[in-house]
Amino acid sequence: MPRLYINAELRRLVADRAAHICEYCLYPEVEGLSCQVDHIISVKHGGATTADNLCYDCIFCNLQKGTDLGSINWQTGELVRFV
Ligand SMILES: [Zn+2]
Repeated sequence: MPRLYINAELRRLVADRAAHICEYCLYPEVEGLSCQVDHIISVKHGGATTADNLCYDCIFCNLQKGTDLGSINWQTGELVRFV
């Protein structure tokens, strides 16, 4: 089972790498509406807790994404993988 816990150093690395902006919708983190570190490939699907599988996202994107691995482009109908 992959590790779920994301330590403070890794959280800081991901947040700084993203410049504290949601990496999906590009909405900047603001006071009272902070972003969070999220697994791109969820732990449920075997995703690792490593920097290359973590992203910084806002609560709205995180709730929309859930544990999905991709989405359908509504304009083309194509499946788009998150990674
Ligand atoms: Zn977002």
